[in-house]
Amino acid sequence: MTENVLQQQTESKGHPKGLWVLFGTEMWERFNFYGMRAILTLFMVNSLVMKEADASLIYGGFLGLCYLTPMLGGFISDRFFGNRNCILLGGLMMAAGQFLLFTSASVFGANLDLAKTLMWVALTVIIFGNGFFKPNISSMVGSLYPKQEKSKLDTAFTIFYMGINLGAFLGQYICPTIGDVKNKIKLPDGTYKMLPNGAFDTIRDIHAFKWGFLAASIAMLIGTAVFFFLKNKYVVTPEGKPLGGLPKHNDASHYEEGEAQKAVFSTQSLIIAGIAFIALFFTFRYLLDGTNFVKTIIYPIIYSSGLTLAGLIISDKSLTKIELQRILVIYIVGFFIIFFWAAFEQAGSSLTFIADNQTDRSIFGWNMPPSMVQIFNGAFVFAFAFPFSMLWDKLRSKGKEPISTVKQAIGLGLIALSYFIIAHNVKDLGNSGLLAIKWLILLYLIQTFAELCLSPIGLSLVGKLSPKRFASLLFGVFFLSNAAGYALAGTLGSLIPATGDKFKKAQELGIDLQGILNKSITPTAEQLKTLDINQISATNPVFAGYEIHNLYEFFMVFVVLTGIAAIILFLLTPLLKKMMHGVK
Ligand code: GLN
Repeated sequence: MTENVLQQQTESKGHPKGLWVLFGTEMWERFNFYGMRAILTLFMVNSLVMKEADASLIYGGFLGLCYLTPMLGGFISDRFFGNRNCILLGGLMMAAGQFLLFTSASVFGANLDLAKTLMWVALTVIIFGNGFFKPNISSMVGSLYPKQEKSKLDTAFTIFYMGINLGAFLGQYICPTIGDVKNKIKLPDGTYKMLPNGAFDTIRDIHAFKWGFLAASIAMLIGTAVFFFLKNKYVVTPEGKPLGGLPKHNDASHYEEGEAQKAVFSTQSLIIAGIAFIALFFTFRYLLDGTNFVKTIIYPIIYSSGLTLAGLIISDKSLTKIELQRILVIYIVGFFIIFFWAAFEQAGSSLTFIADNQTDRSIFGWNMPPSMVQIFNGAFVFAFAFPFSMLWDKLRSKGKEPISTVKQAIGLGLIALSYFIIAHNVKDLGNSGLLAIKWLILLYLIQTFAELCLSPIGLSLVGKLSPKRFASLLFGVFFLSNAAGYALAGTLGSLIPATGDKFKKAQELGIDLQGILNKSITPTAEQLKTLDINQISATNPVFAGYEIHNLYEFFMVFVVLTGIAAIILFLLTPLLKKMMHGVK
């Protein structure tokens, strides 16, 4: 039996009821978030007639900003509104945002420009709503436990993580079921159109996405209501005092000694940071040249804010050498985590497009909607989160638990493996072959194992390594590294080459796309225009000077990036261990 379990038995039994209220609230919120994520890019491509590459870029920027605004939400909550109000405000904003997406998905047929505008407004509202909601709900989990019961926190967060993934699972089941609908095609003689392989041919109902967004909006309203009605009774300290009220009413005795201490930066260093931000912004803007708004404005904002904040913290003169080295460990780990999320977050963009366009999705005769394929991540987390935490407990009791950076290197290595397997399975597919869905399921299984090695421990590592006065800012830096990962995910996802459906479409239009792509034919201006209208690119994507010709090369980009990151992080471990000065 592990230390943790023993300790729990001597303390009050079980978990505070408030944990279940937060669990329920977060579950519905993640239902709303992941349900929408499942269908968002398909909606952009099919209803709002965007190119897949552009949808990937927008998606990456959206996710990235969702991890940038929590800095703001955390700040506003600490100074002005308190956790409770911010959760309610954020929940209502996200529900409103989803409702705007519902509106966008209802009007696009009549007015495409209005629909696009509504989508931008909706995403903006969701980004700010998420900023209010996410940091506040997570920090309330921690504050439910009195000091002497902090050892229960690891289990509490595992339970909370289950809530996240149960919500993701439900959302990714319901929203695709009602929002990502493909119908059989009826022929004039009353029979249905068949494919050469004997299956029914189908066509997507591009008007169905709205129901998925409406479901997401309702889910968020339920989550907000759960919190609103149950908070006073259950989200309380062991003595029954309300938690997360207005900051001026907060009871300081609940905080650990020294915890309330805040970092104070001099005006001079803030001005330097401001200038550095602007300089970095323009550098990134120059490096990421292009015409796309997300690529030239949003991504540079995300990358520069992370670096500026990181620099601002270590410029503080009061840091001791040990503190500085520990902070540097957070930065180094944060850097490697960028590659993890960049590869992991292909789920909602490129992997969904591949599931849609070049995958045989039949499972025991049932054809799974393409946007539902990502459900396997949530399902596997649900199945394996507890076994994994038991595995670590067991290894710990034998003194064999790997240190955090090794676990993270393993996580990165597993991601590389998952893409390596899939790369080899698409190698001989050609333009018309279909990938069997079992390979995508295997990919999500391995990626879930990777997530469980890396994601839950990241935050606790930051907590342990941060000097108290910089803790919340360093969490901010860590979130920003997630944000940078998502932005990179957008850039990498936009490298997706033409898949089977594009070749088929081009053929129907009488254009030899393969010939154009391998430059054996020069397309006419007319043909280029036709391809563009049909959202087909006439050139292959290029990454770091390499042309991506096919899905094999596309997946190998992820193998190389995460594989190299895994090896370097692993090799750095002895050094990082030294720099941690005793923190495990
Ligand atoms: N899947 C988890 C969530 O939605 C973790 C994501 C992350 O840490 N970037 O909260």
